[in-house]
Amino acid sequence: MTEVMQKTYRIGPIRPPSEANSLLLQITEGCTWNRCKFCSLYRRKKFKAFSVESIKKDIDVMAEYAELAQNHQLKDGTWDRRAALQILEKMTSEEQECYYFIYRWLVHGGENVFLQDGNSLAVKTERILEVLRYLREKLPSIRRITTYGRAETLSKISVEQYRQLKEAGLDRIHSGFESGSDRVLELINKGVTSEQEITAGRNIKESGIELSVYFMPGVGGKEYSRENAIETARVVSAINPDYIRIRSTIIYKSADLWDDYLNGSFQMCSENDKLMEIKLLIENIKGCTTVLVSDHMNNLLQNVQGRVDLDRQKMLSMIDEYFAMPEYKQKMFQIARRSGLVTTPADLDLLSRDWVERISAAIESIKDEAVWNREMNNMMSRYT
Ligand code: SF4
Repeated sequence: MTEVMQKTYRIGPIRPPSEANSLLLQITEGCTWNRCKFCSLYRRKKFKAFSVESIKKDIDVMAEYAELAQNHQLKDGTWDRRAALQILEKMTSEEQECYYFIYRWLVHGGENVFLQDGNSLAVKTERILEVLRYLREKLPSIRRITTYGRAETLSKISVEQYRQLKEAGLDRIHSGFESGSDRVLELINKGVTSEQEITAGRNIKESGIELSVYFMPGVGGKEYSRENAIETARVVSAINPDYIRIRSTIIYKSADLWDDYLNGSFQMCSENDKLMEIKLLIENIKGCTTVLVSDHMNNLLQNVQGRVDLDRQKMLSMIDEYFAMPEYKQKMFQIARRSGLVTTPADLDLLSRDWVERISAAIESIKDEAVWNREMNNMMSRYT
């Protein structure tokens, strides 16, 4: 019997939340470093860079599925959903996943692509250039291409190479700086220095590629909480990245940092410590037009976002309003927020009496601060 070749392509596991509707093109697998103490994402995976040929094959399948799906876009821009999805009936389950992914991407505009995985720019620039050019040629509706890069890797790429990448169609680089403090970077075994972060950031910005960096309030523990914020503000001020995205620290039990917490060498920050770090960060960033983005559930006050130069006061007032609440109400908000019941402190007024009683009982049952912090961390560790 002749074996029928499946038409599928690789889909990796990770993308930033801002790329939720993007097409995912996997050019690498895993991470070249794999040793950050808070991260266990790719622990069991060895880094792998896929060949340009195999990536092109994936792009070919994507382009074929895009053409198939586009036959069912109506003149007014809407979709004949039933007809577009009827095609699924003739496919294997793996093909269905790939086709549906393309269909969904097109319905969302078919404009954005994210190159996976954890450190794609570790691949030789020439290879990425070839992939970018082919991708743009085969899927001409693309308007934006983004990827992740580790700061240490990014610091070794020249402005000229970034310019070539920009010209070939790379629009934005996301990089998990996590902290601008050298002591914190060492503590979490990030394998990068703040100087390398600054070199990487300035080179990227100079080339015209957008830069989105990530900050982790709480990742330095109680000991370095203040330094974590102030030093990150220093690094951000030296670069003026387009975005700084806040990822309040969650310590997962699968990560090495959890072992440090258990053996007492790492003291977990409270929700308030982490929020204070965000406040300090906002206060100390100077001369930047950076947009602070809070696009993850793990941030206590997710509404605190805006341009650091224009919205500084507004963001600080939101944080101050929270700190002005009595401690009991702050704790009510923390539990309600971590239970997914509320988004802002004002939402507390909407809670049912039953919920208020249950939350009050939980507050009464935990008097020890360290236990409270651990419980909040455990509630948050449901988020990825
Ligand atoms: S560089 Fe990123 S993906 Fe790699 S181990 Fe560190 S946090 Fe995880």
